[in-house]
Parts: sequence; C-alpha cells; structure tokens
Amino acid sequence: MELTDSVTVLKGVGDKTAVALNKLGINSINDLLTYYPRRYDDFSIKKPDESMDGAKITVKGQIVSEPSLSFFGRKRSRLRFLIKIDDETYPVSFFNQPWLKKQLEIGDEKIVFGTFDASKQQINGIKIISKQSGSDYDSIYPTTKEVKQATIKKLIKEAYEQCGDKLVDFIPQTIRDHYRLESFRQTVANIHFPTSPHDAELAYRTAKFDEFFLFSMRIQMMKLQKRNSNAASIVTYQPKVIDEFKSTLAFELTTAQNKVVDEILADLESDRRMNRLLQGDVGSGKTVVAALAMAAVVSAGKQAAIMAPTEILAEQHANNLASMFAKLGFNIALLTGATSAAARKQLLPRIANGEVDIIVGTHALFQDAVEYKDLALAIIDEQHRFGVHQRQALKEKGEATNVLAMTATPIPRTLAITMYGDMDVSIIDQMPNGRKPVKTTWVPSTKTNSALGFMKKQLDAGKQAYVVAPLIEESDAVDMRNATEIFEKFKKLFSPQYQVGLLHGQMTNDEKDQAMQDFKQGKFAVLVATTVIEVGVDVKNANVMIIFDADHFGLSQLHQLRGRVGRSSEQAYCVLIADPKNEIGKERMRAISSSTDGFFLSQKDLELRGQGDITGLKQSGMPDFKVGDPVADINILNVAVAEAKNITSKNNWQKSPENVQLFKYLKSNQTINTD
Ligand code: ADP
Ligand code: MG
Repeated sequence: MELTDSVTVLKGVGDKTAVALNKLGINSINDLLTYYPRRYDDFSIKKPDESMDGAKITVKGQIVSEPSLSFFGRKRSRLRFLIKIDDETYPVSFFNQPWLKKQLEIGDEKIVFGTFDASKQQINGIKIISKQSGSDYDSIYPTTKEVKQATIKKLIKEAYEQCGDKLVDFIPQTIRDHYRLESFRQTVANIHFPTSPHDAELAYRTAKFDEFFLFSMRIQMMKLQKRNSNAASIVTYQPKVIDEFKSTLAFELTTAQNKVVDEILADLESDRRMNRLLQGDVGSGKTVVAALAMAAVVSAGKQAAIMAPTEILAEQHANNLASMFAKLGFNIALLTGATSAAARKQLLPRIANGEVDIIVGTHALFQDAVEYKDLALAIIDEQHRFGVHQRQALKEKGEATNVLAMTATPIPRTLAITMYGDMDVSIIDQMPNGRKPVKTTWVPSTKTNSALGFMKKQLDAGKQAYVVAPLIEESDAVDMRNATEIFEKFKKLFSPQYQVGLLHGQMTNDEKDQAMQDFKQGKFAVLVATTVIEVGVDVKNANVMIIFDADHFGLSQLHQLRGRVGRSSEQAYCVLIADPKNEIGKERMRAISSSTDGFFLSQKDLELRGQGDITGLKQSGMPDFKVGDPVADINILNVAVAEAKNITSKNNWQKSPENVQLFKYLKSNQTINTD
C-alpha cells in the first residue's frame, strides 16, 4: 500500500464509502492519515468540584433518585436524575435521549460523560459510558451522516498500520533538531492515538509548525517568481489634480489617511506592480483614500475600477464618487448584475474605448465581455468578501494592473504582513476628527424591556434601529434566539406605528439588497438581521443597534456589527444583551463596552479566549489552515516564516541534499494560491 493509493485499497471501502469519504476531502491514504480529530474526549474520572465551568467531564457515581422523563413538543425531552459522587449529590440532565431511561435505575453505579455547569452545580449529560475502555483519551473526528465515527477510526487505524512507515519528513533535519520537533510519522501517530493530553499537545506543536512552514515556503517561492515578472502600469499622475481634489473635500484628511495616500501614490508611479492591502477600522475613511488613488490614475489618462461585494454598496460608491469628482469632470459608470442589457450594451464600448474613466461595480466588472482600454488600478473593497479567483480575475483585466485591496478586518500588523505574504500593508490607525464613539452598554436579558424602551425613544425621535440575532436556524445545542422569531415579536410590538424589516442569510442576494435598500430609504424603522448586515453600507439615520446573545459573538465581530451605526456626527448607541456564564465572558462584554479600538479588541479576544476571533479571520480571506490558528499560534507562525526565508535566501537551496525532500514536496503540491 502506498500513501498515494486511493482509500478503496482499504478493506471494506467500496465505491459508496469512497464517495462519502471524498466529501470529507479524503481521497488518498495520505489524506486519511492527515484527517485529524476535531477534539479529544477525556474519559478519565474527574470530580466535579475540581472542574472548570463548561468543562467536559467524566464522573462516576450512584444514581440516587428515580430517573424522570418529560417531553416538550414532539421531539424534545429531558431525562433527570440525581447522582451521588463521594458525598455530594449533583443533578444530571440528558436532553433528547429518552431511550436512556430504560438503562438507568435508582441505585445503579454509572459513569456519565457530560458538560459541567459550575454555577448551577449540575451536569448536562452527553452519554453514559458502559465500561472504561483501554485509553482514557479518545479522538473524535468530524463526521457526516454517511461516515460514522467508528468507521473513520477503524480506517485511520488500518491505514496507519499498513502505511505509517511510509510517512517521510519534508522538513530539513537541522530545523527539526533545533526546535525539537517530532518526526512526521510520530506526529501523525500521536495526533490520532495519544495516550495522554501531553502526547497530543506535542504532536500538534509539530503539526502546526509543519503546516505554517510549508505555507511560508510556498509564499517565498511565489515571491521569487514574481520578482521577475512584475512589470507595472506606471501611473504618471498630476500632483495638481490630487491637490485640487483634496481641496474640494468637505473635510481635512487625517494624518493616517495622508500617509496611506502617499504610500499608494509612490507605488503607482513606480515601475513595480502595486499589490497593497489597505487596512482600516470601520469608519476610518477608506473610501476617500480609494478616490484619491483613482484621481491619480485618471489624471495620468488611465482607467480605474472599484469592485464592491454587493449591488447596494456599489451603488453607494458610484453616488459618492460622482459627487466627489463632480468638479474634476471625470466620467464614472456603474456596472452590476442589475444593469439592464440595453444599458450594458451602451456602456461596454465606452469602457473599451476609454471614454469612461472610473468603473464602479460588483463582480460583473471582470466578466469576459468587459474590456478596458487601459486599466491601471483595480480596487477591491471589503476584499475578504471575495474569493481568490474573483480578486485575481479583476486584476488580470489589465496587463500590469495595480491592485489595492481594502478591508476592515482588524488583524494585528505582524500577522497581516505574514499572512498576506506578497502584499504590502498600509494601515489607517486613526479615526476622523469629531466622530463620536458609539456608546455601548451591556445589560442582562432581564433588562430587555428597558433596552427596547430606549430603542423606542430613538424611533420616536425619527431615528432607525438595527436588531441583531445570532442564528437563523434553531439550534438545539445552543439556546440562541432565532431572527425570524425576533422579527415576529418586534412586528407585534412596534407595528403599525413602525415598520419592521428582516434580513438573513437564507435570503437571495436580491432579497437582501432589497431589504437593505428599503431600510436605507426609511421604509422600515427597524431592521432585524443576522450577522449578514451588509458591510460598508451607510445608513446615517440609524443610530441604535441592539444585539441579542451578544456573548456568543467574537469581539471583532461585535465591533464590526456596531460599525453600522455611528456613521454621522450624531451620537449612536449599541446595546448588548447578554448573560455570560463565566468571568471571561463578563470580561469580554466589559471590554467591548469600554473600547472602540478594533485592534485592541482583537488582541483582547485573543487573550481572553486563547484564540482569535475565528469568524473574523475566516472572513478575512486568509488561507484555511488545518491545524494551525494564525492568531493563537502566531509565535509558531513567525518562527516558521523566518526559517522559510532563511532557506530561500541561500543560492541553490533547492539542490542542497538537506532540502531535497522539501523541494520535491513543494513542486508536487503547487495548488495553493495565497494571493
Ligand atoms: P470605511 O473605512 O469604513 O469604508 P468610509 O470611507 O465609508 O469608511 O467613511 C466613513 C465616513 O467618514 C464617510 O461618511 C466619510 O465621508 C467620512 N470621512 C472620511 N474621512 C474623513 C475625514 N478625514 N474627516 C471627516 N470625515 C471623514
Ligand atoms: Mg467602506
């Protein structure tokens, strides 16, 4: 058996199982061996009084009350009994597992695995363990309906037994020795079959390093390749036009904006193709920076395009730019999926012959039919909302198009520089003068009514409000309120006096745009929404946001959401309704209530949760790592990057015997696109 063999070489894997495994991304034996557990369940017996709140624990004790079963509706049930552990008695509840009742009787000794709720001193049962099996430490894999936990376990075990010795090390031995990393084979074994938490921890340390290192090597190789193919569209702009544009603005640029503009202008006039990421907190004023870059391009007789993730945002940009550029007499056109066929037919030739200077739109901008005369600058707003291919496609519309990608995702600078490998990073780290920070208050759910009363007062004053609910589907596991439910409730509470709108992820793009548009035009006073509230959209009249179950969001995400209000000089408010269960949760709510600094908050989240705001990161368009978390594991990442740079800085590194395996591996795996 070889690592590259299909999983069908394993006993019991027929076509059907193979298809099911493919859905999990497992095609080869190698894929199977690097399909890592989602978590480990620790079945060693614990005492509740030594356990943390929310911890998964295994306890052993005697059932001392008659198990009682109650049903709610058709499908939901709760089984309750008391368990005596040493001299303490704890209530245990099992939800939606009515069949367990038959297995439990008063007086029985049982082993229960579940989540410990410290404040209520009770256990929420997950399963009853019949007897202690071999290891106390059990790997739990992500599964699907078709692939059961037991199946995947069995297959991994067999693959390892037959093929484990074929796992070779790509990472040069000197690096392994220096950082005391395990061999790849050892790593794989300890991740799947650890005998202690410590085993698994060490193995993950190696696996993370490996992953980051290989990623960094690819970025370095890309950089080396690009160095030779970097011809840029040189923008010889007229400084006079830039100054004139600045003088027409209703405000002075902040120092941070000016600095960033200078960086961009320097890039544009150089003969190196610009590839720059512009980071700036929500409301820091990225649009005007983009406008200045476009003005430079047009003053040099070339074209610029700006792409936004939604039609409504594209329209907003087109309107803004039209008024900003009114005095300069630039030609601006809007091109989106909603542009009529007739309008399109008229527009395309004008883009192709250079009559249009600035093209604003959605991804419709890079469709084949759209030809540009001389596209010197492509700007991608809210770049994390686009896939790699979409970003790439726009860039390729011009032979040597300069690229400016903009994002509000607050990533610490070192991280951004590392992650966006071959991009330069500019940061706007200052808010415009006179902006009033959003006043944020955290209240427990018992105060919901007074929060609504506050909101009502704002509505009475002619303002609008956002109401954020976390999830659209009802989830049994987490008790989160449902957007639709809240919508119905609010309709009852506020109409007919005030209209209420709904926006959620299951709606089509058109429906979402429509809801946003209606809210913007004041058709609704209240918009109930999930986290899909459009990024970047300015509804200046909305000055209140209420967020339900706020403790279920990451701090960065809360900060982004809150950025939808407070977009004018008027005072805006954000009310967080949350009942955090522990001190960390409370600390998080206090942090977001007292700070409006996105960077500070993302760091704080990292500190408090031991990991970054994963949602925020995932949205930022970063590559998906399998085991490493680029925020939580930033130290490992930095070391891996440094080592990769060190290797590639040497001449002929590919030919050194140390690096033979590594180079071979990289050459055979050039699928990643990190751009
Ligand atoms: P974002 O960075 O989130 O895209 P925008 O570009 O939409 O932010 O800017 C938010 C608001 O701030 C806009 O109404 C814009 O006109 C205004 N603005 C931008 N720069 C300044 C400034 N230097 N002084 C005052 N207002 C500004
Ligand atoms: Mg914006």
